Amino acid sequence: MKNTLFFILLFISVFGIKAQEGFLIRNVSLISMEEDTIVANSDVLISNGRIKQIGKGLQTDGSKVMIIDGTNKYLMPGLADMHLHLWGDSTALRLYIANGVTSIKSMSGKPEYLKWKEQIQSGNRLGPQLYVSGPLMNDISFLQRYVPLPVKFIFFWFHILVFSIIIYTILRIVFRKKIKNHPKRLLIELGLPLMILLIVYVIEYCFVPSIQVAAEGEVCVFSRDWEVRKLVSKQKEIGYNSIKPYTSMRRSQFVTLLDEANRQKISVVGHIPSRVSVDDVIKHKMTGIAHVEELRYHFYNGYDFSGNAIPFDIIDTTGLDNITKRLQKAGIFVTSAIVVCKDYIDRQKNDSNFFSKPEFKYVPTKTLELYKKQGFLTKEQYPEKEYWLLVTMLKSYHKNGVMIVLGTDSQWKNDVHGFTVHEELQLLVDNGFSNYEALEASTKNAAISVNAIKDWGTIKEGKRADLLLLDKNPLENINNTRAIAGLCLNGKWFDRTSLDRILVDLMDYQIKNDREISPSK
Ligand SMILES: [Zn+2]
Repeated sequence: MKNTLFFILLFISVFGIKAQEGFLIRNVSLISMEEDTIVANSDVLISNGRIKQIGKGLQTDGSKVMIIDGTNKYLMPGLADMHLHLWGDSTALRLYIANGVTSIKSMSGKPEYLKWKEQIQSGNRLGPQLYVSGPLMNDISFLQRYVPLPVKFIFFWFHILVFSIIIYTILRIVFRKKIKNHPKRLLIELGLPLMILLIVYVIEYCFVPSIQVAAEGEVCVFSRDWEVRKLVSKQKEIGYNSIKPYTSMRRSQFVTLLDEANRQKISVVGHIPSRVSVDDVIKHKMTGIAHVEELRYHFYNGYDFSGNAIPFDIIDTTGLDNITKRLQKAGIFVTSAIVVCKDYIDRQKNDSNFFSKPEFKYVPTKTLELYKKQGFLTKEQYPEKEYWLLVTMLKSYHKNGVMIVLGTDSQWKNDVHGFTVHEELQLLVDNGFSNYEALEASTKNAAISVNAIKDWGTIKEGKRADLLLLDKNPLENINNTRAIAGLCLNGKWFDRTSLDRILVDLMDYQIKNDREISPSK
């Protein structure tokens, strides 16, 4: 309740002051992202949340139109982060806005986020445009970590035994006379329970789902293919934007998932399960791959990947270009998610320096304690060679023209939502992307990845007014995306003071409401 009240007050304080019918950004250097050029001295007129007109020397008739001076400033589409995890904490939404990010995608969903999405759309919650993937889809073996094997065994057989005993008892009472006098009594006495057991087993296997946590959690598990089909339709019905296969899925489950998703016309963006080949990904038409590093399993050459030991000595990347060329041909996009791995390396190099970044003040102290304890991977758990392999894959994708979509995989672990978007942009440039290509990953490509390029992603008349005004040119130095002078979010204007106030209020809130936000909670 306190939480809600705080955000309502914040919402009023931010939107209350700047409410107007429209505004005109005048004399700005326009980076529309429609093409790799800057158009100097442009005017952009915003009305009713849309880009109404782009031109030079535009005149406005109404006094209700606010004028924003864009002299010596640069206007580009708002940024996007298409891979992140919220883990139930909505404060992340504010961090994105303060960082010039106008569209995000939660890559593990639960119904609560769909409510947030609705509230954002209707103007009752402050946040970027929110896309939500369904919960992680995984084989039941994924639960091994949480649920010991004997428990799962009992869970499965418990139904069968209880139902069998009930049915047998009923039959035994109803037909007691007939059984007593039957010449083959012994056969019936022994055979009946076995038969019932078999029938109940078949019914259980074909109709009773495995343990599923789809409704509440951000993970759902299953063991049979038919459950996968049901879950895909259910997730489409609930309103998720895509389905997310996860690492432990069996091949038949993965193929079923893609088959059902294609039938239901819902996209599939997620992991390539370690037991699935790239051939399956292409043949069964996966829409997008959730991280650049997904291809790693395919370089272990028959190695049974246990999830722990990484056998770098047997990695052979000879076939990499071939694979990325085929993915490009199949039109499958890849979300970057580099910064999350770079963080492991940075922490190994200098752990105390890592936490000196100013943005950590927006993380609740208790959560920060968790970061320090849980977010560190040793050199054995995450060797530098693993990062080298990741970068090698990124370069191959880039070289062969695979569409890269910016995602950070931020998830309250080592990262501060929103700030990581600028780090990810920098990492793309560090690894061979031009500044324009990096920006494309976070604007145009992001919109294409959710089939929304007609609505946002570039600055064009008629599109959503999601615009980022910068003091410095991001095409000159990618770091300049941090020099934010103002933000237009769906037609609402936030000047620098408003953005700063979001950050200050958020910091106060985090200090007052110190709590643990964590994937494992
Ligand atoms: Zn993720």
